[in-house]
Formats: sequence, structure tokens, C-alpha cells
Amino acid sequence: MREQKLQDILKETFGYSHFRFEQLNIINSILDGRDTLAIMPTGGGKSLCYQIPALFLPGVTLVISPLISLMQDQVMNLKEYGVHSVFLNSSLSYKESQKAKALILEGLVKIVYVSPEGILSPALSEFFSQIQISLIAIDEAHCVSQWGHEFRKDYTRLGELKSMFPEVTVVALTATADAKTRSDISMQLRLNAPNIFVSSFDRPNINYMILERSDEMKQLDEFIKANHQNDTGIVYCLSRDKVDRVALALKKLKYNAIAYHAGLTKEERTTNQGLFNTEEKVIVVATIAFGMGIDRPDVRFVAHLDLPKSIESYYQETGRAGRDGKASNAWMIYGLQDVVKLSQMLETTEADESYKKVARFKLDCMLALCEAGSCRRRYLLSYFGEESNSTCGNCDTCIVPPQLWDATIDAQKILSTIFRTNQTFGAGHIIEVLRGSKNAKVTDRNHHALSVYGIGKDQPKEHWNSILRQLLNLNYIAIKNWEYRSLGLTSKSQEILTGAIKLNLRKQKFAIAKEGSNGDKKEKKAAKTTESVHGRGDLFDALKVLRNKIAKEKSIPSYIVFNDKSLHDMCSIMPRNDSEFLLVYGVGQSKLENYGKDFLEVVRRY
Ligand code: ADP
Ligand code: ZN
Repeated sequence: MREQKLQDILKETFGYSHFRFEQLNIINSILDGRDTLAIMPTGGGKSLCYQIPALFLPGVTLVISPLISLMQDQVMNLKEYGVHSVFLNSSLSYKESQKAKALILEGLVKIVYVSPEGILSPALSEFFSQIQISLIAIDEAHCVSQWGHEFRKDYTRLGELKSMFPEVTVVALTATADAKTRSDISMQLRLNAPNIFVSSFDRPNINYMILERSDEMKQLDEFIKANHQNDTGIVYCLSRDKVDRVALALKKLKYNAIAYHAGLTKEERTTNQGLFNTEEKVIVVATIAFGMGIDRPDVRFVAHLDLPKSIESYYQETGRAGRDGKASNAWMIYGLQDVVKLSQMLETTEADESYKKVARFKLDCMLALCEAGSCRRRYLLSYFGEESNSTCGNCDTCIVPPQLWDATIDAQKILSTIFRTNQTFGAGHIIEVLRGSKNAKVTDRNHHALSVYGIGKDQPKEHWNSILRQLLNLNYIAIKNWEYRSLGLTSKSQEILTGAIKLNLRKQKFAIAKEGSNGDKKEKKAAKTTESVHGRGDLFDALKVLRNKIAKEKSIPSYIVFNDKSLHDMCSIMPRNDSEFLLVYGVGQSKLENYGKDFLEVVRRY
């Protein structure tokens, strides 16, 4: 019974015929009154996990969301689906917020979006105490954790919601959470024995490629030319300066490029975000300020010109590509100078030492991904706790296996040094011993008398760091003590020490100067986007024209009217009447009523 009703809401309101991933289980858990933690990749469909219960349950669902733009987008989207929702935040005037509150009191609103500081403010908490709240959803829940990569102070107080609304079920949703962040979220939000659902993090339609930097503009230009001449994409850079520089350089190369960073005025940012949402093909060059709230489903590539500070950031940023499920590219170039820059930035922040430790570790993991000699996807998934035995066939290392070198002997040297120093030291010290440092920290402990002292003299520090990262990443060593970051052996270490297995590592350009880059070859093999519109390109174009016209008239992004996938569906289904139109992906009652006639007419004429 309940399940049928949920299916009906999915179809009639949102126009989708199947639940995805764990959506149905998550919704059932919520409706059973259990606190729930839902971890689902970006674009996986987290919003429906609370929107459908909101429609199913009596009363109001509160959604805590970290960003005003995100709330606006959601409310606009829901309106198109005929769902009554409002947001209450600092962007509203007094009059507007009174109006929104009146609608809520009249029982005309099912979903209320509110900021964390808003919901905890005396005025709003009192307001909500008069209303039947059936569910609280906490979106982007990783913001509550220091372990997450977007920690926000105002999120840490959200645990108080449990005392304010002791009877109300809470669902926390996030796209990125390793095991540590996960338990931190449940603890901080005081979730009551939550059901936890982790959907696969894999984004099989995204091709991953990571190259060493040589001439970044040339590399970027070649990449776009070869794969994305007519596409929309995002290029991420570390600094505002660089964003401006790269945007200008792309314009000179005749690309439709715009810049986005926190240094622009609010108006400029709004305009540029708007252009990104509405233009057919556009490249946004941005700092990470351009992030949450990007819902455009047909971003065909995300390029990183600088190393992100963690795998979480990398995965979230690259996850903005290909939300429509079509072939897309995540392309990155990096150099060791990035690591130096990020480390310096980190060391000069005010953050406390425990935070810095975590951040250093995360940066190391990021670098280990770049240096990985085997499947990138497998590495990424294993970082998020998903083990797979097979390689993916859709990343650069799978498509063109990198040149490898046998690092077994050097790995043995590291493992022996860790063992001889009693597994109580961090990477820095281990490398000093290996390289025969005369540092007092080494000699005071008599480590210059060890047999391993100086056996790694012939190689620079970076060489050893790189192998250490891989050993850590592959579980041949582990961090024994977080406070000191001391390294210890693991049950797998023997395999290397006895020579039972070989450790093959990727040859790095900075390690072996002047190897001809095989970048070009790889790029040609990268996922090409070919759109299948069932040979009905003309119809597709006509539908697009109509969609864009409507979007312009209503001043909403075109994908909110219909995304490309819906238009493709129209080309393949060729609906002739209302009931056939309802079969199209993303068409529910509200969209049928609003747009059915016009789109059916275009199909009919074709
Ligand atoms: P995120 O998990 O990043 O918050 P969203 O909730 O924005 O993702 O969903 C991403 C897209 O997937 C949206 O366009 C949404 O309408 C669509 N979507 C969600 N659930 C389904 C489903 N069961 N079937 C088809 N499309 C879905
Ligand atoms: Zn792979």
C-alpha cells in the first residue's frame, strides 16, 4: 500500500518511473520513524529522499540547507513540479518572510528550507513550535564534521534540534562521507540509532584522467578541442588571479568562457551563475566558490588546473560532470609545486594542530591518487570504503597503462626502517634516517647506528615520500598513532619484505626528466560525447528552442523546464498525446499541464 503510494508520487509528481539506488529504502526508513543517514553520490537524487516523505506525511518537512542559492534553486524546482515549498533566510525582506510564514500557518506549504542559524534562532524556533513538523532533513550533512571538507561552525549546533523537536525523525544527507565523517555526523546530530544507507559512489559515466603539468593552457586547450568543442564545462583553479587569467586566455582562444570567484561583486556572480545555467555551451573558470547549488545536468567536463586539497573535494567537484548519466570527463593536471602551495596555505592558517594533521593526511591521499599506478576509479572507490576487484576500463590508467618501475627494493628499505625504529616515527623521520641525516633528532636516538641508516642517500626526499604514500595507500603500512602520525607495519608488509610480491609504481615526470609525454594519445581515447537523438537532430533542436524560449519567459534555467535527457526521451518516444507524454523522463502532472501542449505540438509538426 505504502509502496504503491510512493511509486505514485514518484511518477505523478516527479515523472520518474523507478527509484534509484537506495532511495526507496531511505524513504521507508524515514516513514518508519527511524533516524536515517543517507550517503549518495552527487547527482544521485538525495532531494527526493526527503521530498517524497514530505508529500506523504502530514504537516511540514523542515530542510536545513547551508546555502541560500541552494534553497532558491530547490524551491524554484519544486514549483515546477507543483510542490508548495518556501525558504526562510536572510535574503528575504521582512514582508516576504511574513508572507511565507502566513502560507505555512495556513497549511499551504509542505517543505520549508531554512539555514542552520535560522532554525536555531529564538524567533524561528518559536514559530515552528506552533506547527506540526513531521520530518527534519539536514542536507549537506558533512558540513557538521571537522573530518568533512566543508566544515561549518553553524552546523555544529544542529544537535540541538533533537532537544527542540524530540519526537521528530531526522534524516541527514550527504554526498561525501568516509567512515570517520559518517560516525561523526551521527554523533554530532545526535541521531538515534540511525539506519545508514550508502549508495555506490561509482560514477561510471565519468572518465578520470590525471596528467602532470607541462604547459597548462596548451594542455587545457588541446583537451577541450579534442573532446569538448561544443560542450559546457567547469575549469577549477586554486586562486582568483588564476581564474581571471585562465578565463581571459580561453576567451582569446575563442571559447565562451566566464569567470566565477568570491572576489567578484554579488551582481557579477549572480549574472555569471545565470549565464552558466542558461547558455548552451559555456565554460566557467572558477575557484571552489563555484560549487554547491550547481544542478545543471549536462556539464560534460570538469577540469582541474590545480590539485584539490582532498579526495573529497576532488570527487565532489568532478561529480558535477555528467549528472545526466552521459559520458563525461574529469580531467586534471598537477605538479608537485601544487603540494608545496597547498601545504604552505595550510600551515599559515589559524586552524588548530589536530585539524592540520587531518588536512595533511587528506592532501597526501590526494597526491597518492595522482601517483597511483593502477585504476583511478578503484582507488577513489576504495577511499570511500567501496572495494572492487576489477579495474574500470574508463580511466587513463586503464586505457593507456602508465610506464611503471619496480619499486620493491626501495619499498623494502622503507619497511625495514620503520621496523628498525620500532614503528614509532612519522614519515619525516623515517626519510631522514634513510637518507643519512645528521639531524640531532636522528643522532640523539642513536638511529645513525642502525643498519638502515643512509641506505637511501642516493634518492631525494620526494622520491621516498612518493613511495611512502603509495605504501600507505595500498595498506602495506598504516598510521599507528594519529597524534604523532607514526607509521607501523601491517599484515600485508611481509609480502613485500619477503619479495613475494612486487611493488610497481607509476613513473613520474619529475622523477625521470624528459620522458616524452604520452598525454596526447590518452586524450584521443577519452570519452567522446556523442548525443543520440535517434537520428532526429532537427526535432531535438526544435524542442531545445521551445525549452529555451519558455525558460527565458519564466526567467528560470532551461534545465528546470526540461533537461536534455527529457528532450532525448521525447525524440525517442515521439509522444502523440498526454498519456504518452507522461512516459517521458521527468514529466509529472505539473509539467504535463504546464508544457505538454507546446511540446506535443512541436513533436506533431515534426
Ligand atoms: P543530489 O543527490 O546531488 O542532491 P538531486 O537530488 O539534485 O541530486 O538529483 C539529481 C537529479 O536526478 C535531479 O534532476 C533529480 O530530479 C534526478 N532524479 C532523482 N531521483 C530520480 C529517479 N528516481 N529517477 C530519475 N531521476 C531522478
Ligand atoms: Zn580504471
